[in-house]
Amino acid sequence: MRVRASPITLQHEARVALKRHLQRESVGECFAPGRVNLIGEHTDYNDGFVLPCALDVGTAVAIAPRTDNRIVAISESRGRVQRDEFSLEELPEPLPRGAWANYLRGMVAAALTAGQAVSGMDLAIVGNVPQGVGLSSSASLSVALGKSLLTVAEHGPAPHAVSLQHIARQAQWTEHHYAGCLCGIMDQMAAAMAAPAEALLLDCRDLTLERMALPEDWCVLIVDSGTRRELVAGEYNQRRLQCEAAARHYRVSTLRELSSARLSTHRGALDDVCFRRARHVLTENERVLQAAAALKAADLRSFGAALRGSHESLRTDFEVTVPEVDALAAMLDELIAHHADGRGGARMTGGGFGGCVIAVIEKPTAELILAGLRQSLGERQIFAVGL
Ligand code: ADP
Ligand code: MG
Repeated sequence: MRVRASPITLQHEARVALKRHLQRESVGECFAPGRVNLIGEHTDYNDGFVLPCALDVGTAVAIAPRTDNRIVAISESRGRVQRDEFSLEELPEPLPRGAWANYLRGMVAAALTAGQAVSGMDLAIVGNVPQGVGLSSSASLSVALGKSLLTVAEHGPAPHAVSLQHIARQAQWTEHHYAGCLCGIMDQMAAAMAAPAEALLLDCRDLTLERMALPEDWCVLIVDSGTRRELVAGEYNQRRLQCEAAARHYRVSTLRELSSARLSTHRGALDDVCFRRARHVLTENERVLQAAAALKAADLRSFGAALRGSHESLRTDFEVTVPEVDALAAMLDELIAHHADGRGGARMTGGGFGGCVIAVIEKPTAELILAGLRQSLGERQIFAVGL
């Protein structure tokens, strides 16, 4: 699968969908991208470092104000239209777990709870981020909706200045309270802040960020393993609880405050599982900084080493990979060794338990590596950033 569609095209499709399904003319459109995380997995909710990068796929929302106090929304994706409608007189209730409209209801509830003026509106949503494979279609949807609520509020009687960072926080709140996933802030910050062709080095402790241009001759291949284990949110939440248990053991507020020296010297009676979870988080933070330095120096060998280290740590210490994903990462590393003399690297990306593997490589070797991949996997499962 090679996805290419500009935000402009998607916003046009959202306008058309608003007209077709709700018979309304759009007064404005909002967009937020999906993201791929280059490195820094399961570090965000431990106040650590991450290095995500915007995709050129995302979610667009077209908006038309209503005179009554209701939200009416449709989402059109791959020919399927889904709808939700509710009043703004009270906080919208969450629907059963897994319902797409929980992201809409959550964003509206977050805005209302924050005292933001939300007026009635018709919304048409069009997204082309592959869903549920770790490229964060949910954050892209939530942030695009957060921008939309604000766009209408700014035309209304009581505008509230809500920054993109607030929208990211509201989108995280939505994941926690309406979608049932205790995620960190990376996906939402990336969807709110990241621009194409750059990586965001984000410190999740204070949300400071550094924008880093991807070197001209680098590209990122994203390969869908095609596997997705059930109950991923449950596994994810369990990892988070294990990290919090480890932090309590070491008497630190988050694992970000723990040094590698204390990790070993104060291990005491901490059980093996929580110890390994903490070790992953500490070493992963170091690898993100190593990768960021390598990115600045355009040193693909060192960047690749950090990616491989990350995968290994996620496989053994954090235990969020599955055999199909391990096999895919190993296959990509072999192709990189063979065709690029080891300049580059591969790893799983996203929360784990299936989903996508990335490879960061030089553009001139990309065609050879892609040809090798297509031989085993076919065109369908591959797309690229920067090619
Ligand atoms: P990921 O964020 O990695 O893609 P999630 O499970 O967190 O995976 O989010 C996927 C869910 O987000 C979908 O099942 C759907 O409920 C919702 N979603 C994402 N994009 C859209 C969209 N364009 N329209 C409706 N729902 C969407
Ligand atoms: Mg998600």
